[in-house]
Amino acid sequence: MRSLITHFVLLASLAANAHGSALCKNHPSSPHWPTESDWQSLNQSTQGALLAGVAPASSCYDGNPLGSDLDCDTVQENWFLSQFHAEQPASIGYSYWANSSCVAPNDYAYDDQKPCQLGGLPQYVLNATDATQVATAMAWANSRDIRVVIKGTGHDLNGRSSGAYALSIWTHHLQRIEFDPHWIRPAFNSTENVAIAQTGNTWGRLLKAASDVNRTVVSGQDGTVGLGGFIGGGGHGPLSSLYGLSADQILQATIVTTDGSILVANDEQNQDLLWAIRGGGPGSYGLVIEYVMRTFPLPSNVVVGNLSLSTQENGTQEASWDGLTTLMRALPDLTDSGLTGFGIGTVSQSKSSNTSAVGRQVDVSMLFYLFNSTTAEWTSLLSPLQQQMAAFSNNQSVQVTLSEPDILPQYLDLFDVLNPTASSCGDISLSSSRLLGRRELNDISHDTVKDYHKRLTTAQIEGKTARLVIGLQGGKGPRNVEDNMRGGLTPAWRDAYLHVLVTGSSIETEGTNPRSALQAAADWTNAHKETVWAEWAPDSGSYINEANPSNPNFQHDFYGDHYSRLLSIKEKYDPQSILYVQAGVGSQDWDYNLQDGKLCRK
Ligand SMILES: Cc1cc2nc3c(=O)[nH]c(=O)nc-3n(C[C@H](O)[C@H](O)[C@H](O)COP(=O)(O)OP(=O)(O)OC[C@H]3O[C@@H](n4cnc5c(N)ncnc54)[C@H](O)[C@@H]3O)c2cc1C
Repeated sequence: MRSLITHFVLLASLAANAHGSALCKNHPSSPHWPTESDWQSLNQSTQGALLAGVAPASSCYDGNPLGSDLDCDTVQENWFLSQFHAEQPASIGYSYWANSSCVAPNDYAYDDQKPCQLGGLPQYVLNATDATQVATAMAWANSRDIRVVIKGTGHDLNGRSSGAYALSIWTHHLQRIEFDPHWIRPAFNSTENVAIAQTGNTWGRLLKAASDVNRTVVSGQDGTVGLGGFIGGGGHGPLSSLYGLSADQILQATIVTTDGSILVANDEQNQDLLWAIRGGGPGSYGLVIEYVMRTFPLPSNVVVGNLSLSTQENGTQEASWDGLTTLMRALPDLTDSGLTGFGIGTVSQSKSSNTSAVGRQVDVSMLFYLFNSTTAEWTSLLSPLQQQMAAFSNNQSVQVTLSEPDILPQYLDLFDVLNPTASSCGDISLSSSRLLGRRELNDISHDTVKDYHKRLTTAQIEGKTARLVIGLQGGKGPRNVEDNMRGGLTPAWRDAYLHVLVTGSSIETEGTNPRSALQAAADWTNAHKETVWAEWAPDSGSYINEANPSNPNFQHDFYGDHYSRLLSIKEKYDPQSILYVQAGVGSQDWDYNLQDGKLCRK
């Protein structure tokens, strides 16, 4: 209560300055941009939490124009590590979304003729340590019509945690974690075994803390990802095919909305907001400070092993596509048997041994895991598939191998297997994805499924590698989530077995600016990938966090028939649209110009 009173006093003193043009969010060349002393007043009212936005690579440029306190060698060594950007207040993992305006010399987009500028990074960052501070900052920005971006780790693949001329709220230091095995669920006569975790935690931290009390949570497979963006988009991982997505586990959230209110959303109050933040898109409705989420028993073991399809030199290309298609069509049944996992298909060119024509072939490596089981069960589930896939192999041109599985006694050991190296960032491709179920995989012919795979794995630049990432993250978990736990997450997840992602576009930054390079890659991706998905799976959708943000049908594809309800919730809690994110709910009315940094109504 005390924090709310303090907060309203602050609101009254700050509201005096309501400005902003009807067309564009406030920016430094507009007459109402806050003065230095106005920014200082925000700093004072947040106990000195305001930082200037700094590009860490500034030290690699003459005179260190933006005042980085890291030396250039350190920046270069760490530039492609996600964790590095997570620890910097303003930096993000995929810098082309910040206009690549001050990148390290080893970045793809580095140009020694270009100066270091802040570009698409925020000018000011609130280093948040409590909800009241966040509420003060949010209301301050709202009353001045200044864009707000939220950064947890900066991992976002679509640049949604940065923005020029925005006030960024960095949640990294909101790291409290508690557990309550008997949490009383409001409006229900029941108790739940929960984790109560603030948004600045990573899944790695939360998994470890949960494991210490003999429980676990539905997380992603990479420990460096943060809670906020992951849950806001849905969040899939090793346990999602069993229990549903991470967003399906949220029982309550504490949320700061754009007017500076600190709201608790659960089954008894602010139910619309709870519904929206359960997978209805991150960074759009308010800043979630804390989640109350279901925990689950730790699996007693994990059985893990590999199935791979490898083509030999001059391999028969067709056999590899037949093997892949056979695998894809088997995955729904295997998921129903309890298997989960993920894999990668790598497409390359070779000469056909039959005709000598140059064509494309695919090599596949799948990691399958099974919980609370035995190596014998794992092998008996996968051996028939191995034989079916190998049946297409002519003259040993394609090899299908099933490894001896290992038994991991601790669930956390799985994450070491999944992440043998530190997680990287900055790779330069725009991906495109789709959620696929039995309708797309089993109810149509083998040859039709094969043909879609071939069409979806072309590369923009001939000869470059395209990849297919196959995730077994759907099935009975998402399908069986109780109605009262479901939120804004696209309904496409409920029928899906697989989340399939394809790469192949090239973001060619040389000789052009990032905005044009991204646009060219997006145009190619829309023409060569989205159109194929739309033909193959018109009634399904895409997982918003790992999808092409320039998809022109994003309302349908990312939100399904939840879009209009989400839009009305967005308009209720963020009527001024200060929380803009690309392909977010309501974003169709706005244009963010990466080059001049302005965010204006269309
Ligand atoms: C290495 C790596 C591995 C990944 N693995 C998986 C995986 O296994 N499963 C999976 O589902 N996804 C995975 N992803 C994708 C991941 O879900 C997204 O990148 C997600 O946006 C990351 O969320 P974040 O909070 O860490 O990132 P950030 O970049 O900090 O934030 C992402 C978005 O969330 C918003 N946001 C962050 N915190 C809050 C908050 N508290 N309240 C409201 N909005 C907030 C931001 O505004 C931004 O729009 C992975 C990504 C990477 C880079």
